[in-house]
Amino acid sequence: MRFSTRAIHEGPAIDAATGAVSPPIYLSTTFRQFAPNVNQGYVYSRSGNPTRANLETTLGRLESGRGALAFSSGLGALTTLLASLRTGSRIAAVDDLYGGTWRLFEHFRRQFGIRVDYYDLSDPARLGPALEEGADLLYIETPTNPLLHLVDLRASARAARDAHAKLVVDNTFATPALQRPLEFGADIVLHSATKYLGGHSDVVGGALVLRTPKDLERFTWLQNAVGAVPSPFDCFLVLRGLRTLGARMRAHGESARAVSEVLDGHPKVRRVHYPGLASHPQHKLAKRQMDGYGGIVSVDVRGGQRGALRFVKGLKLFTLAESLGAVESLVDHPASMTHASVPKVERERHGVTDGLLRMSCGIEDPSDLADDIRRALRGI
Ligand SMILES: *Cc1c(COP(=O)(O)O)cnc(C)c1O
Repeated sequence: MRFSTRAIHEGPAIDAATGAVSPPIYLSTTFRQFAPNVNQGYVYSRSGNPTRANLETTLGRLESGRGALAFSSGLGALTTLLASLRTGSRIAAVDDLYGGTWRLFEHFRRQFGIRVDYYDLSDPARLGPALEEGADLLYIETPTNPLLHLVDLRASARAARDAHAKLVVDNTFATPALQRPLEFGADIVLHSATKYLGGHSDVVGGALVLRTPKDLERFTWLQNAVGAVPSPFDCFLVLRGLRTLGARMRAHGESARAVSEVLDGHPKVRRVHYPGLASHPQHKLAKRQMDGYGGIVSVDVRGGQRGALRFVKGLKLFTLAESLGAVESLVDHPASMTHASVPKVERERHGVTDGLLRMSCGIEDPSDLADDIRRALRGI
């Protein structure tokens, strides 16, 4: 079965007690024990909760994993992942990363002696040097945020395996509707469920999906020990989001295609980054490892920060806001917003210039979004 069908039919079964088609929300924090440690599978809601279990089972299946664990945010999931390391552990990471991920890596580097090195991995030839000294984790995003570089999943999995490192893929941008890294040999998938999985800008959440039973057991222990767990209501919202994920990702892709085509080659535009454009340097790789190109388009407009802010002012359908991946279109100015915690030299070296804008194309009618972009470009 294809993804959209699985997203609906591999979700929670119809409630046996009542026939409810939509799963109930179990708010209970604690569960009766017939005798100490004799129970019906649940004890205390940090350790396990039936609503959270529904979300975890569904997401684990959709990502082709052994199982998934839900967290209170994407960074809650990352904190728990990093809690599996020890002083002296090494992370080889892609250099274009979500700003909050970079900030947390740097914190663990300074406070706990975790080694972190960053590499441009858009060229698979750099995987060798990145892993030469050995690593515990090879950490990648693909497509990356905000420049939409791709990293070759198959080559990364092979290189990680040879170096005895675990390959971790932040799959927030693509979602399992478009890309399932575990099928390419990745070990762990990380999500900010705040974005496409939730999809409606109304829930903050995160997840880890594990390929092996051993990792699932280890991270289940850490999930309970660290305690960065989501509320049952938040789990319900993400679970509801998953049911429409296939349809939404198709619509996001159509919007992004329309937006990227207006921007591509426009005289007020220096560069547009979208893996679906034939001009994207890794378009062929995108075709190979993705089932679509996603809803994010980044654009470097002429006139630096002034040009970028004039363009944003002219937009009527794109709201200036952090975050991405929801039904309504949003625009972000990474240099001053989401990536402000990354020093300017560092940023500019990777191409996150003052003129760069990240457009999260929503599921409005694509032609209305294209008209909005045309009009705003005239204002630069
Ligand atoms: C937002 C985001 C995160 C962090 O997730 P939160 O839910 O905000 O904690 C991590 N990775 C990517 C790619 C993101 O976009």
